[in-house]
Amino acid sequence: MSNSQDCGIERGQLPAISLDLEASQPQDILGWATGQFGADLIMATSYGLEGMVIIHMLHELKANLTIINLDTGYQFPETLRMQEAIKDTYGFDITLVKASTTTEEYEAKYGGKVYEMDPNQCCFDRKVRPLQNALAGKPAWISSIRREQTPQRAAAGIVEWDDKFNLIKINPLANWTLEQVNSFINDNKIPTHPLYQRGFKSIGCWPCTRAVEADEAERAGRWSGFEKLECGLHTRATEKSDEHV
Ligand code: SF4
Repeated sequence: MSNSQDCGIERGQLPAISLDLEASQPQDILGWATGQFGADLIMATSYGLEGMVIIHMLHELKANLTIINLDTGYQFPETLRMQEAIKDTYGFDITLVKASTTTEEYEAKYGGKVYEMDPNQCCFDRKVRPLQNALAGKPAWISSIRREQTPQRAAAGIVEWDDKFNLIKINPLANWTLEQVNSFINDNKIPTHPLYQRGFKSIGCWPCTRAVEADEAERAGRWSGFEKLECGLHTRATEKSDEHV
């Protein structure tokens, strides 16, 4: 499938569908998505709190879909071990989506640590481009973003057209708060990434993610020292986060 029409949904219908689902529980949104797109659906996760909530819900729905993790080569060892934890707890096989070069080849090609010299380029090469390849030909993908996380996410629809990757994007937790996420995790005893117990509030690659103080913003530990809050996966095609290519 290459566009929204192939799956029976016209692109112009998405705003109304999204509005209809705005008051629905995330489980119902996921139920709609799995019913609509079946095994063609893709979910991408970096094993953040929200991603684990969605994985738990997909398990309860007995969903048959592809779940991917963007393995940049710079992930924490704890992140890589989450693949096994999810298999053990939920039975899902996570597909690792890798960049076209190893980190050694990449740094040799560009003369050093690209994540320090130009993190937008690094994110583009090691996250955006691999996701673009993974989503090619698919009708829809699920993301874990919430509107309150960053200004760029504030306008996210429950269901929307993703003009960067050219398919439908489903954000079942768009209107949830962090408190709702934490409550759901506690109530359902969902396994979480171990770095949350060590002062991290958001999980990214090790060179660009640090633990934060209790009063710091959720994503303050990402790309500290840069005016960057997004890796480029959730910005519009016209925004500047990956304009270098
Ligand atoms: S988060 Fe950092 S290391 Fe990971 S892809 Fe982006 S710039 Fe590169």
